[in-house]
Amino acid sequence: MTGLRGANALVTGGTRGIGRSVVLHLARAGANVITCYRSDDEAAGRLEGELKETEGTHHVLKADVADPAQVTRLVAECRSRYGSLRTVVHNAGVISHVPFAALDGEEWHRVLDTNLSSAYYLTREVLPLLSEGSSVIYIGSKASLVGIPLRAHYTAAKAGLMGLARSLSKELGGKGIRVNVVAPGIIDTVEPGDAADAALDQRLEEYRKRSPLGRLGRPEDVAHVVAFLAGDGAAYITGETVNVDGGL
Ligand code: NDP
Repeated sequence: MTGLRGANALVTGGTRGIGRSVVLHLARAGANVITCYRSDDEAAGRLEGELKETEGTHHVLKADVADPAQVTRLVAECRSRYGSLRTVVHNAGVISHVPFAALDGEEWHRVLDTNLSSAYYLTREVLPLLSEGSSVIYIGSKASLVGIPLRAHYTAAKAGLMGLARSLSKELGGKGIRVNVVAPGIIDTVEPGDAADAALDQRLEEYRKRSPLGRLGRPEDVAHVVAFLAGDGAAYITGETVNVDGGL
Protein backbone atom coordinates (compact mmCIF):
# COMPACT_ATOMS: atom_id res chain seq x y z
CA MET A 1 0.00 0.00 0.00
CA THR A 2 1.88 3.09 -1.18
CA GLY A 3 2.40 5.99 1.19
CA LEU A 4 1.73 4.06 4.41
CA ARG A 5 5.17 2.67 5.30
CA GLY A 6 6.56 4.89 8.05
CA ALA A 7 3.46 7.11 7.97
CA ASN A 8 2.03 8.34 11.29
CA ALA A 9 -1.63 7.50 11.81
CA LEU A 10 -4.28 8.21 14.43
CA VAL A 11 -7.32 5.91 14.53
CA THR A 12 -10.11 6.50 17.05
CA GLY A 13 -11.99 3.52 18.51
CA GLY A 14 -9.37 1.02 17.43
CA THR A 15 -9.73 -1.78 19.95
CA ARG A 16 -12.73 -3.61 18.47
CA GLY A 17 -14.58 -4.28 15.25
CA ILE A 18 -13.89 -2.07 12.24
CA GLY A 19 -11.43 0.20 14.07
CA ARG A 20 -9.30 -2.74 15.22
CA SER A 21 -9.15 -4.04 11.66
CA VAL A 22 -8.11 -0.59 10.39
CA VAL A 23 -5.38 -0.30 13.04
CA LEU A 24 -3.96 -3.74 12.20
CA HIS A 25 -4.18 -3.11 8.46
CA LEU A 26 -2.27 0.19 8.72
CA ALA A 27 0.28 -1.27 11.15
CA ARG A 28 0.89 -4.28 8.88
CA ALA A 29 1.43 -1.86 5.98
CA GLY A 30 4.25 -0.30 8.04
CA ALA A 31 2.49 2.71 9.58
CA ASN A 32 3.04 3.96 13.14
CA VAL A 33 -0.37 3.97 14.77
CA ILE A 34 -1.83 5.67 17.83
CA THR A 35 -5.35 4.55 18.67
CA CYS A 36 -7.82 5.16 21.46
CA TYR A 37 -10.76 3.46 23.12
CA ARG A 38 -13.29 4.43 25.76
CA SER A 39 -13.53 1.73 28.42
CA ASP A 40 -12.70 -1.88 27.48
CA ASP A 41 -9.19 -2.37 28.86
CA GLU A 42 -9.17 -6.10 28.02
CA ALA A 43 -9.76 -5.44 24.31
CA ALA A 44 -7.04 -2.78 24.46
CA GLY A 45 -4.62 -5.31 25.95
CA ARG A 46 -5.43 -7.83 23.22
CA LEU A 47 -4.78 -5.24 20.50
CA GLU A 48 -1.47 -4.25 22.09
CA GLY A 49 -0.42 -7.92 21.92
CA GLU A 50 -1.31 -8.12 18.22
CA LEU A 51 0.51 -4.87 17.45
CA LYS A 52 3.73 -6.24 18.95
CA GLU A 53 3.96 -8.51 15.91
CA THR A 54 4.06 -5.55 13.51
CA GLU A 55 6.84 -3.08 12.78
CA GLY A 56 6.59 0.59 13.69
CA THR A 57 5.65 2.16 17.00
CA HIS A 58 2.14 1.79 18.32
CA HIS A 59 0.23 3.18 21.29
CA VAL A 60 -3.22 2.24 22.58
CA LEU A 61 -4.58 5.04 24.77
CA LYS A 62 -7.76 5.56 26.74
CA ALA A 63 -9.64 8.67 25.54
CA ASP A 64 -13.34 9.41 25.12
CA VAL A 65 -13.80 11.21 21.80
CA ALA A 66 -17.03 12.81 23.03
CA ASP A 67 -15.04 14.80 25.59
CA PRO A 68 -13.12 17.68 24.00
CA ALA A 69 -10.56 17.82 26.82
CA GLN A 70 -9.71 14.13 26.32
CA VAL A 71 -9.41 14.66 22.56
CA THR A 72 -7.01 17.53 23.19
CA ARG A 73 -4.88 15.25 25.38
CA LEU A 74 -4.99 12.44 22.80
CA VAL A 75 -3.78 14.71 20.01
CA ALA A 76 -1.12 16.20 22.30
CA GLU A 77 0.24 12.63 22.63
CA CYS A 78 0.35 12.37 18.83
CA ARG A 79 2.18 15.69 18.65
CA SER A 80 4.77 14.77 21.25
CA ARG A 81 5.38 11.25 19.90
CA TYR A 82 5.15 11.85 16.12
CA GLY A 83 5.12 15.62 15.47
CA SER A 84 2.89 15.19 12.43
CA LEU A 85 0.11 12.95 11.11
CA ARG A 86 -0.32 11.56 7.63
CA THR A 87 -3.55 9.66 8.31
CA VAL A 88 -6.45 10.34 10.66
CA VAL A 89 -9.30 7.83 10.81
CA HIS A 90 -12.23 8.86 12.97
CA ASN A 91 -13.96 5.54 13.54
CA ALA A 92 -15.20 5.69 17.16
CA GLY A 93 -18.96 5.76 17.23
CA VAL A 94 -21.97 4.53 19.10
CA ILE A 95 -25.17 2.98 17.76
CA SER A 96 -28.54 3.48 19.43
CA HIS A 97 -32.06 2.22 18.66
CA VAL A 98 -34.86 4.42 20.03
CA PRO A 99 -38.28 5.31 18.54
CA PHE A 100 -38.16 9.02 17.71
CA ALA A 101 -41.17 9.76 19.94
CA ALA A 102 -39.25 8.35 22.91
CA LEU A 103 -35.91 9.99 22.08
CA ASP A 104 -34.96 12.27 24.95
CA GLY A 105 -32.42 15.08 24.85
CA GLU A 106 -29.85 13.11 26.80
CA GLU A 107 -29.74 10.26 24.29
CA TRP A 108 -29.81 12.67 21.32
CA HIS A 109 -26.76 14.52 22.69
CA ARG A 110 -24.91 11.32 23.65
CA VAL A 111 -25.23 9.98 20.11
CA LEU A 112 -24.55 13.32 18.39
CA ASP A 113 -21.57 14.06 20.65
CA THR A 114 -19.95 10.67 20.13
CA ASN A 115 -20.56 10.35 16.39
CA LEU A 116 -20.45 13.92 15.10
CA SER A 117 -19.19 16.57 17.55
CA SER A 118 -16.23 14.28 18.17
CA ALA A 119 -15.23 14.75 14.51
CA TYR A 120 -15.20 18.51 15.07
CA TYR A 121 -13.11 18.21 18.26
CA LEU A 122 -10.70 15.80 16.61
CA THR A 123 -10.27 17.57 13.27
CA ARG A 124 -9.77 20.94 14.95
CA GLU A 125 -7.01 19.49 17.14
CA VAL A 126 -5.20 17.49 14.44
CA LEU A 127 -5.23 20.29 11.85
CA PRO A 128 -1.82 21.75 12.87
CA LEU A 129 -0.31 18.25 12.48
CA LEU A 130 -1.58 17.78 8.91
CA SER A 131 0.18 18.82 5.71
CA GLU A 132 0.41 18.10 1.97
CA GLY A 133 -0.53 14.42 1.45
CA SER A 134 -2.42 14.01 4.73
CA SER A 135 -5.73 12.15 4.59
CA VAL A 136 -8.65 12.41 7.00
CA ILE A 137 -11.27 9.66 6.88
CA TYR A 138 -14.52 9.62 8.82
CA ILE A 139 -16.38 6.35 9.28
CA GLY A 140 -19.98 7.21 8.46
CA SER A 141 -22.80 4.79 7.78
CA LYS A 142 -24.82 3.66 4.79
CA ALA A 143 -27.81 3.98 7.15
CA SER A 144 -27.55 7.77 6.89
CA LEU A 145 -28.07 7.60 3.13
CA VAL A 146 -31.11 5.32 3.21
CA GLY A 147 -32.69 6.16 6.59
CA ILE A 148 -33.50 3.52 9.20
CA PRO A 149 -36.41 3.46 11.69
CA LEU A 150 -35.38 3.92 15.36
CA ARG A 151 -32.07 5.51 14.34
CA ALA A 152 -33.00 9.09 13.44
CA HIS A 153 -30.37 10.46 15.85
CA TYR A 154 -27.63 8.07 14.67
CA THR A 155 -28.30 8.65 10.98
CA ALA A 156 -28.49 12.43 11.47
CA ALA A 157 -25.07 12.34 13.13
CA LYS A 158 -23.52 10.16 10.45
CA ALA A 159 -25.04 12.32 7.68
CA GLY A 160 -23.40 15.30 9.38
CA LEU A 161 -20.00 13.68 8.84
CA MET A 162 -20.60 13.75 5.09
CA GLY A 163 -21.36 17.49 5.07
CA LEU A 164 -18.34 18.13 7.27
CA ALA A 165 -16.07 16.13 4.96
CA ARG A 166 -17.37 17.82 1.80
CA SER A 167 -16.88 21.32 3.17
CA LEU A 168 -13.48 20.55 4.66
CA SER A 169 -12.33 18.97 1.39
CA LYS A 170 -12.89 22.37 -0.23
CA GLU A 171 -11.40 24.36 2.63
CA LEU A 172 -8.29 22.20 3.08
CA GLY A 173 -7.73 21.04 -0.51
CA GLY A 174 -5.40 23.97 -1.18
CA LYS A 175 -3.04 22.58 1.47
CA GLY A 176 -3.09 19.13 -0.15
CA ILE A 177 -5.16 17.65 2.69
CA ARG A 178 -7.93 15.23 1.63
CA VAL A 179 -11.09 14.50 3.63
CA ASN A 180 -13.37 11.55 2.83
CA VAL A 181 -16.05 9.37 4.39
CA VAL A 182 -16.30 5.58 4.30
CA ALA A 183 -19.89 4.45 4.78
CA PRO A 184 -20.16 0.79 5.81
CA GLY A 185 -23.33 -1.22 5.35
CA ILE A 186 -23.95 -4.13 7.71
CA ILE A 187 -20.62 -5.30 9.09
CA ASP A 188 -20.46 -8.33 11.35
CA THR A 189 -18.37 -7.17 14.30
CA VAL A 190 -19.50 -9.83 16.77
CA GLU A 191 -16.37 -11.23 18.41
CA PRO A 192 -15.73 -14.48 20.29
CA GLY A 193 -16.70 -13.91 23.92
CA ASP A 194 -19.40 -11.30 23.14
CA ALA A 195 -22.64 -11.87 25.06
CA ALA A 196 -25.19 -13.95 23.10
CA ASP A 197 -27.87 -11.78 21.49
CA ALA A 198 -30.58 -13.77 19.68
CA ALA A 199 -32.37 -10.67 18.34
CA LEU A 200 -29.12 -9.34 16.84
CA ASP A 201 -28.30 -12.75 15.34
CA GLN A 202 -31.73 -12.83 13.71
CA ARG A 203 -31.34 -9.30 12.30
CA LEU A 204 -27.91 -10.16 10.89
CA GLU A 205 -29.26 -13.34 9.30
CA GLU A 206 -32.04 -11.34 7.61
CA TYR A 207 -29.51 -8.87 6.22
CA ARG A 208 -27.30 -11.73 5.03
CA LYS A 209 -30.22 -13.22 3.07
CA ARG A 210 -30.98 -9.85 1.42
CA SER A 211 -27.38 -9.08 0.53
CA PRO A 212 -26.61 -9.39 -3.21
CA LEU A 213 -23.23 -10.89 -2.30
CA GLY A 214 -24.84 -13.40 0.06
CA ARG A 215 -22.85 -12.41 3.10
CA LEU A 216 -22.43 -9.67 5.68
CA GLY A 217 -19.51 -7.29 5.52
CA ARG A 218 -16.33 -8.05 7.44
CA PRO A 219 -14.29 -5.43 9.29
CA GLU A 220 -11.44 -6.03 6.85
CA ASP A 221 -13.71 -5.12 3.91
CA VAL A 222 -13.86 -1.63 5.41
CA ALA A 223 -10.20 -1.56 6.44
CA HIS A 224 -9.03 -2.20 2.85
CA VAL A 225 -10.98 0.82 1.60
CA VAL A 226 -9.76 3.02 4.45
CA ALA A 227 -6.16 2.03 3.69
CA PHE A 228 -6.70 2.82 0.00
CA LEU A 229 -8.10 6.28 0.81
CA ALA A 230 -5.16 6.88 3.17
CA GLY A 231 -2.58 5.96 0.55
CA ASP A 232 -1.12 7.67 -2.51
CA GLY A 233 -3.43 5.72 -4.85
CA ALA A 234 -6.28 7.95 -3.69
CA ALA A 235 -4.33 11.21 -4.15
CA TYR A 236 -7.09 12.69 -6.35
CA ILE A 237 -10.08 11.63 -4.23
CA THR A 238 -11.49 14.10 -1.73
CA GLY A 239 -14.91 15.11 -0.43
CA GLU A 240 -16.24 11.65 -1.34
CA THR A 241 -18.34 9.11 0.49
CA VAL A 242 -17.41 5.54 -0.40
CA ASN A 243 -20.05 2.94 0.44
CA VAL A 244 -18.83 -0.47 1.58
CA ASP A 245 -22.17 -2.24 1.70
CA GLY A 246 -21.98 -5.28 -0.56
CA GLY A 247 -24.68 -3.73 -2.74
CA LEU A 248 -27.35 -4.06 -0.02
P1 NDP B 1 -17.66 -1.50 17.94
O1 NDP B 1 -18.70 -1.17 18.94
O2 NDP B 1 -17.39 -2.93 17.59
O3 NDP B 1 -16.27 -0.81 18.38
C1 NDP B 1 -16.27 0.56 18.69
C2 NDP B 1 -14.86 0.98 19.04
O4 NDP B 1 -14.91 2.40 19.32
C3 NDP B 1 -14.34 0.34 20.32
O5 NDP B 1 -12.93 0.28 20.27
C4 NDP B 1 -14.81 1.33 21.40
O6 NDP B 1 -14.04 1.27 22.59
C5 NDP B 1 -14.57 2.63 20.69
N1 NDP B 1 -15.40 3.71 21.19
C6 NDP B 1 -16.74 3.75 21.32
N2 NDP B 1 -17.12 4.92 21.85
C7 NDP B 1 -15.99 5.64 22.06
C8 NDP B 1 -15.71 6.91 22.59
N3 NDP B 1 -16.69 7.71 23.01
N4 NDP B 1 -14.43 7.32 22.66
C9 NDP B 1 -13.43 6.53 22.23
N5 NDP B 1 -13.62 5.30 21.72
C10 NDP B 1 -14.89 4.86 21.64
O7 NDP B 1 -18.04 -0.64 16.63
P2 NDP B 1 -18.08 -1.07 15.09
O8 NDP B 1 -16.76 -1.63 14.68
O9 NDP B 1 -19.32 -1.82 14.81
O10 NDP B 1 -18.27 0.37 14.40
C11 NDP B 1 -17.18 1.25 14.17
C12 NDP B 1 -17.69 2.46 13.42
O11 NDP B 1 -18.34 2.06 12.23
C13 NDP B 1 -18.71 3.26 14.21
O12 NDP B 1 -18.54 4.63 13.95
C14 NDP B 1 -20.04 2.78 13.64
O13 NDP B 1 -21.05 3.74 13.77
C15 NDP B 1 -19.65 2.57 12.19
N6 NDP B 1 -20.51 1.62 11.48
C16 NDP B 1 -20.59 0.31 11.89
C17 NDP B 1 -21.39 -0.57 11.18
C18 NDP B 1 -21.51 -2.01 11.56
O14 NDP B 1 -22.34 -2.70 10.94
N7 NDP B 1 -20.74 -2.52 12.51
C19 NDP B 1 -22.20 -0.11 10.03
C20 NDP B 1 -22.02 1.26 9.70
C21 NDP B 1 -21.21 2.10 10.42
P3 NDP B 1 -14.71 0.62 23.95
O15 NDP B 1 -15.11 -0.79 23.53
O16 NDP B 1 -13.64 0.70 24.97
O17 NDP B 1 -15.93 1.48 24.22
